[in-house]
Amino acid sequence: MSRKVLVLGEVRDNTLRNVSFEAIAAGKTVAEGGEVVAVLIGDTVSSLANELFYYGADRVVTVEDVKLKSYTPDGYSQALLAVIEAESPEGLVFGHTALGKDLSPKVAGKLNSGLISDVTSIEVAGGNTVFTRPIYSGKAFEKKIVTDGLVFATIRPNNIAPLEKDESRSGEVTSVSVDIKDLRTIVKEVVRKASEGVDLSEAKVVIAGGRGVKSADGFEPLKELATVLGGAVGASRGACDADYCDYSLQIGQTGKVVTPDLYIACGISGAIQHLAGMSNSKVIVAINKDPEANIFKVADYGIVGDLFEVVPLLTEEFKKLKV
Ligand code: FAD
Repeated sequence: MSRKVLVLGEVRDNTLRNVSFEAIAAGKTVAEGGEVVAVLIGDTVSSLANELFYYGADRVVTVEDVKLKSYTPDGYSQALLAVIEAESPEGLVFGHTALGKDLSPKVAGKLNSGLISDVTSIEVAGGNTVFTRPIYSGKAFEKKIVTDGLVFATIRPNNIAPLEKDESRSGEVTSVSVDIKDLRTIVKEVVRKASEGVDLSEAKVVIAGGRGVKSADGFEPLKELATVLGGAVGASRGACDADYCDYSLQIGQTGKVVTPDLYIACGISGAIQHLAGMSNSKVIVAINKDPEANIFKVADYGIVGDLFEVVPLLTEEFKKLKV
């Protein structure tokens, strides 16, 4: 059944996050040949529309207002609901990011719609659009279909590949004007706690440190390796609790969920709560002194050794490969 699908283009620092392009690809599957309309919300965002066309959007709708410069649930939901009213879509796709997780239940509630969250793949089978999502902290997967009403899903970053970029594509950009009011939150300042650089939840390579790094300085070799590989640094809760790093780096059941191409766990024991955030990574390398450490059970490659010896050696070898 062909549908009109709205996808949310997520903007940070005036740049589209990669999950926006993944959402377009997901939207194409949900649309089953129908139209995919990308929505851009912010104060001045229309210049980003071309990039959405390059990745497959058929049309772009913008909502621009100075009150939408920073994300607020009230502001963004008012903007989105106005676009939904104007466009009457049959499907919605957002990223399962911090923003998407906050916004999607609010929008679903306002629309009296269901929501399939944290989707890792979408296929059309037996005449249905079938959504797969992990359950029980990633130990099992469930498949869901929508039998009636709006098809609304959030997609986990790094799982659904974007379409190939085609800079010859273009399309129509229209705007919807909304009287944004009754904001209960005003963002006065944005303070970045995590390091600048690659976004952890979208990183293709993650170098994660656990209590085994032993101190904040112990993260330095991991940061060097991450720089050489163009990746991001993450952490176990053990490392965060020990104050070796900020909680914004925490990966796991109560932290971020990551699915990079390469995850290198350094000095992490592999508690079930940590595995919940990284076990779907494509290739897992574990470095641990203890050959019995649980992390080796999910690792594709295991290195039994001292991370302070192994990580610098890896960094040197990867540097040689880059020359
Ligand atoms: P440890 O378990 O202490 O492991 C340290 C590892 O480092 C050991 O395996 C050791 O052999 C190795 N090591 C030490 N020195 C070296 C060295 N020089 N070189 C190589 N290896 C070395 N945890 C999370 O990570 N994320 C979560 O989201 C999360 N949520 C939780 C939610 C709840 C409700 C609960 C109860 C717990 C949660 N936890 C979470 C905590 C989790 O149970 C573990 O306590 C935590 O993951 C352990 O962190 P760790 O592996 O760094 O530390």
